[in-house]
Amino acid sequence: MDRLIDMGVLACRQKNSRGTFKPHLAVRFRSEDGKVCTFSVDSTRVPKKQPQPDAYLITHAHSDHHGKSAMLSELSVCTDKTAVALEIRHDRKFKGKTVDMCGSIEVNGTTVRTYPTGHTAGAVAFYWENDVGTRILVTGDVKDPSALPKCDLLITEANYGDHADPSCHFEDDIEGFRSALESSSQVAFGAYAFGKAQRAVELLREIGHDGPIAMEEKSLMLSNRLLDEPGELVGLGEFDGDAICIVPPWDLGKLPRNMAKYVMTGRQDYYYPSLQISDHLDANGLVDMVEKVDPEMTLVYHPGGDRPGKFASHLNSIGRGAVCLEDVDNILGNEFL
Ligand SMILES: [Zn+2]
Repeated sequence: MDRLIDMGVLACRQKNSRGTFKPHLAVRFRSEDGKVCTFSVDSTRVPKKQPQPDAYLITHAHSDHHGKSAMLSELSVCTDKTAVALEIRHDRKFKGKTVDMCGSIEVNGTTVRTYPTGHTAGAVAFYWENDVGTRILVTGDVKDPSALPKCDLLITEANYGDHADPSCHFEDDIEGFRSALESSSQVAFGAYAFGKAQRAVELLREIGHDGPIAMEEKSLMLSNRLLDEPGELVGLGEFDGDAICIVPPWDLGKLPRNMAKYVMTGRQDYYYPSLQISDHLDANGLVDMVEKVDPEMTLVYHPGGDRPGKFASHLNSIGRGAVCLEDVDNILGNEFL
């Protein structure tokens, strides 16, 4: 943590009134013109009567990044697509400010830039510099690090960061996906409505399926609004039995029995055969990302559980300085941020 202080950054966590940790990381620093700034990262809101951060950065619209709460603050910042996804998913109005996928936004004297991470539609990393020139990069979840810039402090995820766990090593099975598509004229893919369903549409278009795709209602709405060129997408009501279907995994059983059915997941515990298509980097991919952006220090903040600690240890073992959220010992009560 001393190294973060040397970089002009104070990382903080928060406790709630029950004394347990909130899903929270805040980063305090001085802006280039000397103002003290606090950015909350993928965190729930602080109650309105309490001092607020300068921004709630929302990297993308998956629930475990807490946009459902942060979107109700005028201080929230996310991409246009993430705002659309949050509004559709949670049926509430996004009250914050939006930024382009490769854009920038001024927050209290700091220019915050965005870089796509390929994780979901709208998912970006945030980047800014502080008063001593430390380049700070907050990635959220990452699938494709190719657009990410170099940095001094990397704040990142470790969803598959446990090198000793075989399930953290994988490759996307594009050939399996293609074979599944060709296995029958009636194929259904089980995919979560936000994230996987859009990836399924993109993959189908990439491998040359240009016919209609029938989708469950929320998946359809999200895909039509979030994808630039989704092609013809229709509701399940218009499904005449001879199309490709995309529905949430738990809805596969409601479709006709003669359809070929697959689940797009890394998990093996579904009744239907699974297709390994991930929205994430695997353990080696995460290390490659760190080497590419080449930080002096890495802070692993996501997800919950022991993977951030394991990934930080792995980075230390290969000579790269790293800590995880649990190592952050600046703890804020609700009354102070
Ligand atoms: Zn995610």
